[in-house]
Amino acid sequence: MLSNIRIVLVQTYHPGNIGASARAMKTMGLTDLVLVTPRQFPDPEASRLAAGAEDLVDTARVVGSLAEAVSDCVQVVGASARLRSLPLPHFDEPDEMARDLVEHAAHDPVALVFGRERFGLTNDEIRCCSHQVSIPANPDYGILNLSQAVQVLAHELFTAWRRRPGSGYRPPRPSQERQPTREQLGHFHDHLSRVMQRSGFITQPHARTEDQLEALFARAQPSRRELSLLRGLLASLESHLPEEK
Ligand code: SAH
Repeated sequence: MLSNIRIVLVQTYHPGNIGASARAMKTMGLTDLVLVTPRQFPDPEASRLAAGAEDLVDTARVVGSLAEAVSDCVQVVGASARLRSLPLPHFDEPDEMARDLVEHAAHDPVALVFGRERFGLTNDEIRCCSHQVSIPANPDYGILNLSQAVQVLAHELFTAWRRRPGSGYRPPRPSQERQPTREQLGHFHDHLSRVMQRSGFITQPHARTEDQLEALFARAQPSRRELSLLRGLLASLESHLPEEK
């Protein structure tokens, strides 16, 4: 679905902004970059600022006009810091724009268009758009650097996508933070009871103490790694206990 969302940069002046925009896109899962008559491209500065997103710079398509860049799109949102006189529907809140665009992107290509560093989008280019969006910002200084505007709106798109029911998004989780299975927890509690009995802490199976400890560990929610640390500790204590009769 994110692959249906295109980022279009119109006549970018600084190649570094193209690279930084590619990086901003890739961090948010976007891959389709189209450049309308960039002043200088390809360029080592674009690749340098892309860092790990050079693949997006390498696969970016260069076209001759905005109309060409968005001809297959069903919705085209122009990002603009200033309101123009054109009566296009306007999203005042970027998250509303993002939800709407992500919705359409489930079926068809859509585009988010960014203007030139010096003078944004021309009125003719805004006519190629179906909507406009502004990033609310300081009224005295509300114009963001191009690639930072891409970052803010790309983040909104990614957020709208991952919150969509059925997106299947799971935050990456290091394996050592995974929760133990019920079986692993069961083995831990068996081990704990055995050590409590063999050490003389309890003299016979004692359901109340065991229940309390189970509740304590249920609240603590130890990870697999922490549980195996505790198992190691129990095993070490156990090795110092007299043999079972
Ligand atoms: N001087 C230009 C702004 C250029 S900034 C002007 O006045 O229009 C380059 C691009 O970044 C803009 O064309 C727009 O696409 C995007 N951008 C910068 N700040 C923005 C904001 N607050 N809201 C939406 N887009 C913004």
